[in-house]
Amino acid sequence: MNPAIIGGGYAGMAAAVTLSTRGIPVTVFESAKQLGGRARGVLCSNPSEYDDSTLAPPFQLPPGGGKGKRLLPENHLILDNGQHILLGCYRHTLKLIEQAGGNIGDDFLRLPLQLTLHNRFELKAPALPAPLHTLASLMRARGLSLAQRLSAVRFMLALRAMHFQLPRDTAALDLLRAHSQDDALIRLLWEPICIAALNTPAHKASAQVLLNVLRDSLNGARSDSDILLPRINFSTLFPERAAEHVRQRGGKVFTSCGVEAIAPQGEQIELLAAQGSQRFSHVICAASPAVSARLFRAVPQLAPIAAQIEALSFQPITTIYLQYPESVRLPQAMLGLDRCFAQWLFDRGQIAGQHGLIAAVISAEGPHQEWEQEQLAQQVAQELREQLGITATPLWQQVIAEKRATFSCEPGLFRPAHTTPLSNVLLAGDYTAGDYPATLEGAVRSGIQCAEEILQESHP
Ligand SMILES: Cc1cc2nc3c(=O)[nH]c(=O)nc-3n(C[C@H](O)[C@H](O)[C@H](O)COP(=O)(O)OP(=O)(O)OC[C@H]3O[C@@H](n4cnc5c(N)ncnc54)[C@H](O)[C@@H]3O)c2cc1C
Repeated sequence: MNPAIIGGGYAGMAAAVTLSTRGIPVTVFESAKQLGGRARGVLCSNPSEYDDSTLAPPFQLPPGGGKGKRLLPENHLILDNGQHILLGCYRHTLKLIEQAGGNIGDDFLRLPLQLTLHNRFELKAPALPAPLHTLASLMRARGLSLAQRLSAVRFMLALRAMHFQLPRDTAALDLLRAHSQDDALIRLLWEPICIAALNTPAHKASAQVLLNVLRDSLNGARSDSDILLPRINFSTLFPERAAEHVRQRGGKVFTSCGVEAIAPQGEQIELLAAQGSQRFSHVICAASPAVSARLFRAVPQLAPIAAQIEALSFQPITTIYLQYPESVRLPQAMLGLDRCFAQWLFDRGQIAGQHGLIAAVISAEGPHQEWEQEQLAQQVAQELREQLGITATPLWQQVIAEKRATFSCEPGLFRPAHTTPLSNVLLAGDYTAGDYPATLEGAVRSGIQCAEEILQESHP
């Protein structure tokens, strides 16, 4: 067996680690210069040295290429293409990071569940066993009336009674209204959770997928609801370690080596790249949805899957990095804002020792998409001034807008399966069939599942 994997994001590298750990060397092809895909470190440098070609799609630059619009520090700095958070219930991701050589204790700032919208709302999990910690945190939430807190607790109890399973999927907002969650409760509690977890506004989001996340995070063990903020960049955290793990077990990982076509040849699959062609026993296609659709469209047996992928729609995520003087810090490492463009702020000083660096995240579609990046950064700086009294002027700023950050996680969405009509071609990625929205855990699970399909064939 000599499987190949197209794509060195979290899904592809999860498949690669799973196969190579079980004694099957793999070959990974990654089109970008670096591994990590939509969760990657981006090297930023002095504008004159800055190489825009490292910013592979879907990394968006401002109109005109952005040259001269960014004010970057003199020294190189690695920023993630977007601030990510993990949850304690992301078991597969956390396990694979350790398997590839990471140490969860060192690699993350781990915080017990706490959701704070500055000066407006706070939910904090007390030290009680699950699920009491969730119910008690709802009962004690600040910024809600007693009636609203009771209503939130009743909703959680109703979800538990139905085992977090709906007879029919619907929009998250409709489910919330059907359970008497009023507008303020939705705005302060459920909508921020829905947007952070599904990257889809509650009026469009799948209630069932939201319940899947609530089931695993708030209704599991207490540590499942922990928030994990990485101290190192996302390429280093897993994909680069995974590549080393693969190489040590006889596999190969090629970067800047995009696959241009998949061609079935008898029992084997030929992959064509600019550098040449090679045949493999199996192929796991873990490229981005658009590229997977393009590769599949050209193979008659796979063309129907291309059509399924092309039917998906997408949601953006914008991260605004603002570098303040080192003395600037937030009241806590992760802080939400109510009725602002910036939804969540992350203090990179408290998380990763990048003092004075604040990452502001705007998830999902919204009016911010109409704004020029520079204007948006100024608006967020003004929000920090008004909300938190940060009067210093940012020394530099960097806006990273991922227009197709995740698929839009809508009710009853059809997501393509991992297996295809060709038994030796498999499909991985956060958008493939699964319980989870587009997350690292969803991506990792899909990669593991494809690897397991191949392993079953080798040891039925
Ligand atoms: C800004 C942002 C913030 C996010 N925040 C969170 C968060 O807080 N928590 C969370 O869990 N998730 C978050 N996500 C989602 C998470 O990043 C994704 O779900 C996950 O990274 C998807 O991994 P993947 O391997 O499925 O796809 P990708 O990361 O898209 O990987 C596909 C890979 O294939 C490569 N490729 C493309 N074409 C070819 C080709 N022809 N040949 C070879 N290789 C190719 C690409 O370069 C890429 O490396 C966020 C995403 C973004 C963009």
